[in-house]
Amino acid sequence: MKFLIYATALSLIGSCATLSHKEKVQAIKDNVTIVKPEQLLKYSQTITPEELKEYLYQFAADEFQGRKTGTPGQKLASNFIRDYYKTQGIPSPEGISNYFQPIPSSYIGDNYGDSENVLAYIEGSEKPNEVIVISAHLDHEGVDSSGDVYNGADDDGSGTVALFEMAEAFKEAKKNGHGPKRSILFLHVTAEEIGLQGSRFYTENPVFPLKKTIANLNIDMIGRIDRKHENNHDYIYLIGSDRLSTELHYVSEVVNDTFFNFELNYTYNAEHDHNRYYYRSDHYNFAKNNIPVIFYFNGEHKDYHQPSDTADKINYTILAKRTQLIFATAWQLANQKKRIIVDKS
Ligand SMILES: [Zn+2]
Repeated sequence: MKFLIYATALSLIGSCATLSHKEKVQAIKDNVTIVKPEQLLKYSQTITPEELKEYLYQFAADEFQGRKTGTPGQKLASNFIRDYYKTQGIPSPEGISNYFQPIPSSYIGDNYGDSENVLAYIEGSEKPNEVIVISAHLDHEGVDSSGDVYNGADDDGSGTVALFEMAEAFKEAKKNGHGPKRSILFLHVTAEEIGLQGSRFYTENPVFPLKKTIANLNIDMIGRIDRKHENNHDYIYLIGSDRLSTELHYVSEVVNDTFFNFELNYTYNAEHDHNRYYYRSDHYNFAKNNIPVIFYFNGEHKDYHQPSDTADKINYTILAKRTQLIFATAWQLANQKKRIIVDKS
């Protein structure tokens, strides 16, 4: 009866005057039970700095010409992602032919060529119709007029290879009989840099009904350290976690408290934050459809949207730890008995 106790704890937030806010929060957290913690830890450790580095040097190479939506370089990037999943033996979901969800240039805009989202899928063992979407954008800024390539190693090569490693971890778990109970969709969206179009297209043409989509964990830049954290690398900005589901926010915190102890920084989650990051990456297309989201972000740095955002500047140790945190959060959301509750709008 965890769920009922939990609901009672939730209602405490507004109603009980005798508990302090801190005590109420603790009561909610105490009712989150991590599912199979030893297995979670074991498979999270298959996510390594070395593998992330190997993939990111390839994905952020000059060969991909900055992955501008609709260009041959972006097509190479999409093929690279597809080939990764093929090699790993991780399929695309039913209804998607050979990993690609095509998006015509008429949808994206006349100045761009046709493009595609790239989708891979781990089917859930008990509730395959309920899905957690983990997303990162595959496109970037292309090449400037003087021929400098925008490699986009952090933006969003870091998110792209994080998805690779999480997919591998879930695949290994599944192979050994510990696969997720709900399904996981690895969604590599295109056309983010030109208006979040790939994620908008997906939410208008979802492969799984949006009503069965439990949460979206979106990653956009998690491989660098911002200036405020030069002395504390173990941090990550979270945006959106409490906007639609109080439960999601505390599940995320309990996972972090239990295994990682990152500084979870909510600066940019403030309702009136002038950066408006909540509206600025792909998670927003899920949030506007009432799907709870968490956006993971390292903050801006001097190479943000510059040709100097290159693979040699990534902190692979931190990238691996953050990827493990997101994997662990997805693990909990996919495995806990009841799907998380949406209690806000
Ligand atoms: Zn980005």
